[in-house]
Amino acid sequence: MRISSLLKENRPKLSLEVFPPKTWDAYESVKSATEEIAALSPAYMSVTYGAGGGTSDTTVRIAENIQNKFGVPALAHLTCLSSDREKIHNQLELLNGAGIENILALRGDVPEDFDREKLHYHYACELIEEIKEAGDFCIGGACYPEGHPEALSFADDIKHLKEKVDAGCEFLTTQMFFDNDIFYNFMYRIREAGIDVPVVAGIMPVTNPKSIKRTCKISGTALPARFLRIVDKYGDSPEAIKQAGIAYATEQIIDLYANGINNVHVYCMNKPDVAKKIMSNISAIIG
Ligand SMILES: Cc1cc2nc3c(=O)[nH]c(=O)nc-3n(C[C@H](O)[C@H](O)[C@H](O)COP(=O)(O)OP(=O)(O)OC[C@H]3O[C@@H](n4cnc5c(N)ncnc54)[C@H](O)[C@@H]3O)c2cc1C
Repeated sequence: MRISSLLKENRPKLSLEVFPPKTWDAYESVKSATEEIAALSPAYMSVTYGAGGGTSDTTVRIAENIQNKFGVPALAHLTCLSSDREKIHNQLELLNGAGIENILALRGDVPEDFDREKLHYHYACELIEEIKEAGDFCIGGACYPEGHPEALSFADDIKHLKEKVDAGCEFLTTQMFFDNDIFYNFMYRIREAGIDVPVVAGIMPVTNPKSIKRTCKISGTALPARFLRIVDKYGDSPEAIKQAGIAYATEQIIDLYANGINNVHVYCMNKPDVAKKIMSNISAIIG
């Protein structure tokens, strides 16, 4: 099923994200975690793509398994920065052969000491154009309610986001955010800029405060004082912070649904227990 059509259905929906193993040794354990998550029947599941393309095979295998065994539509991520035309087309053939029609087209992060002159692709927009030419895929892209860290300005970032949509991006998924007002403001700004595709709000239930502080620093994601107080108080107890992180994420999700945002994506990081708890917290809401 094309995710862009699913997202237009007027009902609250929850999708979940998993990541593939970096090596085949870990394949069975990751597969088993993703199967437990798929058994919760999310609207769809996205499978990330390792920076540098190291997971190209496992991304496809995990996505294919979820879709075929559980009937959960899969969204395979694909990055282009460290790739070339041939590798991208090989990956598209692999996805097509596996029956994956939904792709989240991304640029990928720029590694340090990277020679920009040698790059085949510079921005996600170029990948979107390439995928569109290659076949009838449903293409999504990333967006940043607080602006992408490399963007010259918020307005410039939105201008480039519009270019992605004009190139064929049919829906967008946001970077995680911890303050819903930032998301509502972003929605206002992009709609004003003429971006009218469905936007899926990305929510991260925090279970590891140290890594989230690091990730947020890199990605420029603001951590509200209310959130930081929770982390300070419960961060030293893995069980307490998990409970508090799930409760915080649940509150954000319910507020989004209550404000008419029907599409929420949870970065559940291969943790079936976290995914289960969130799904059960909103079971009567999503029906
Ligand atoms: C929902 C989501 C999922 C992700 N999944 C993965 C994953 O699976 N694997 C992974 O490695 N990474 C992933 N990432 C991280 C992503 O690869 C990085 O954030 C990356 O730095 C930007 O990717 P992008 O596709 O948004 O890039 P782009 O849309 O190309 O934007 C990157 C920057 O370039 C600017 N820009 C765009 N076009 C132009 C132009 N023509 N001229 C000048 N500037 C321009 C933008 O404003 C922005 O600042 C994900 C991010 C999100 C939000």
